[in-house]
Amino acid sequence: MSDKIELMRGDITTLNVDAIVNAANNRLIGGGGVDGAIHRAGGEQISQECAAIRRESGGCKTGEAVITRGGFLPCKYVIHTVGPVWHGGSKGEEALLRSCYNSSLHLAKDHNIKSIAFPNISTGVYGYPKEEAAKAAIEEVKRFLQGDTSIERVIFVSFDEENYDLYKKLLDKE
Ligand code: ADP
Repeated sequence: MSDKIELMRGDITTLNVDAIVNAANNRLIGGGGVDGAIHRAGGEQISQECAAIRRESGGCKTGEAVITRGGFLPCKYVIHTVGPVWHGGSKGEEALLRSCYNSSLHLAKDHNIKSIAFPNISTGVYGYPKEEAAKAAIEEVKRFLQGDTSIERVIFVSFDEENYDLYKKLLDKE
């Protein structure tokens, strides 16, 4: 495993890192899953900054990322990225999912973020197959880290056991 990549199981909102990534929706309105947990725990600052982004640009496109501060969360920033809804795989889902990881890491670098935690984007209600999602996520993060020296820690956070076991298997293989 790359020494900058870590895996943990648990609730991403509890992490004391520079940034956590949110699996958001296009309108940046807190929904269910990890998005709901982040908006609830982070409070008003996050929803207000999301509302300002919405007023300015309409929200966030699928595969892109925007940034807010972390409100009451222990992290400094939340990077909101919008994963693709799984439609069977022929609607560009993989490229969009890869783009979520890549855009989030670029935004992190631009904000001098050294440590960043990702949830398993799109693998909840958006229905992306978990193993394919894990492979794309790991590959994209590794590719980015190969060309970057500013980000020091990338943490994959799995909430459910199935995702955790998949990531563990894939990362242990290296
Ligand atoms: P999406 O709409 O992108 O599928 P979800 O929030 O439904 O987003 O699910 C994405 C992943 O986030 C799922 O694997 C889910 O188990 C996980 N998840 C849900 N709550 C949390 C949390 N508090 N911390 C970390 N991961 C979480």
